[in-house]
Amino acid sequence: MQKGHPKGLPILFFTEMWERFSFYGMRAILVLYLTKETLGDNPGLGWTSSEALGLYGWYTMMVYFMGIPGGIIADKFLGQKKTVFLGGLFIAAGQLTLVLENMAAFYTGLALIVTGVGLLKPNISTMVGGLYKKGDPKRDAGFTIFYIGINIGAAIAPLLVGYIGEVYGWHTGFGLAGLGMLLGQVVYIWGQKFLKDVGNFVPAAKIEGTKTNKPLTKIEKDRIIVLLISFAIVMIFWAAYEQAGGLMNLYTFEKIDRSLFGFEIPASIFQSVPAFFVIIFGTIVATFWMKRQLKGKESSSLFKMSMGMIIMGAGFLMMSGAALETIDGTKAMLIWLILSYLLQVIGELSISPVVLSFITKLAPVKYASIMMGLYFAATGLGNKLAGIIGGLAESAGELEVFTGIAVFCTLFGFLILVFYKKLKDLAHGAEDLKV
Ligand code: GLN
Repeated sequence: MQKGHPKGLPILFFTEMWERFSFYGMRAILVLYLTKETLGDNPGLGWTSSEALGLYGWYTMMVYFMGIPGGIIADKFLGQKKTVFLGGLFIAAGQLTLVLENMAAFYTGLALIVTGVGLLKPNISTMVGGLYKKGDPKRDAGFTIFYIGINIGAAIAPLLVGYIGEVYGWHTGFGLAGLGMLLGQVVYIWGQKFLKDVGNFVPAAKIEGTKTNKPLTKIEKDRIIVLLISFAIVMIFWAAYEQAGGLMNLYTFEKIDRSLFGFEIPASIFQSVPAFFVIIFGTIVATFWMKRQLKGKESSSLFKMSMGMIIMGAGFLMMSGAALETIDGTKAMLIWLILSYLLQVIGELSISPVVLSFITKLAPVKYASIMMGLYFAATGLGNKLAGIIGGLAESAGELEVFTGIAVFCTLFGFLILVFYKKLKDLAHGAEDLKV
């Protein structure tokens, strides 16, 4: 952990790392469990792949959509700290319910996880923002560190839970995911002493300068508008990024030459590549942006988002390169895929942790968690959209879909630049450093 960051950061880092371990571990075996035949050693539910992908799409959308009620509960009733704790309990209970082998337990488990992630995910992110004072230049870097924690969980879980699930049984895998969340809860409870001043419930009447039911000021409204516009753009980003688990995964399996020194690398291994890239490049990208900011060069969140979208576009152009190579039926070079993931992750690092931080700078205090919840709902829609776009490849062709995604991302990146001044005005200096 870097020096100079608040003591609460490692606590939130490890809690979220375990929560994501639990989430991505379960997610890695969900579709496999659903589609595996009902007979044999490690029986599944025997669903068709379209039935399984259908449930998967709804599930990945709903986990993030529940961020809206999760945010409302934190802002209106419990505060973020207690809501995160409650979310952890729901998630652990849900994962452990999946250990049982019956359909009622299966659906109950999913419902508990969806509710739990909704309670935990947006609120733990808002708490990270609460660790930093207004105008602290370390805030964005703090979010990147937090984001690295997320990806340590996301990188290890599919390998570990995937292995246990496939070899020792799906239900044991779900149990391991539940155990991960319980470890997260232990860290969170132990670390409460470092979180005394963050995430506590503040009744609207007590928030400095606001009376209950006092309408939002013009500045606050403008800031909400700029947030909502960025959410729409970021939704496009996630619709592109989430191709990784679907179309890019299938493409890797079918059309990328995965042989290395006479050995064929399994396609599923590449699912962990983006998360590993986040761990490797997270600090480098954050330091790059922080140095620029301290030198007074353009480095606002909106600017980073715009660059992130353009880099994401370049990432998908690499996939167009691969698709061009496979037109005559040969397999494409692995380097296209690696370069694509690399660029996608550089884009992700300029967008995803940055938006989390941006929200904590711009949202009015009394709506902080709700705005975070709305953001996650937008990512949920992005996930659902990703499935629809990925499905187009079958009729339209991969080259067309990859290139279309590249064009859209680049276009939206430039759109931010075109309206940059206007958007920045709407933010009313929320990002100015006070050092
Ligand atoms: N990969 C990130 C995480 O799991 C972002 C997810 C999202 O916002 N859709 O937290």
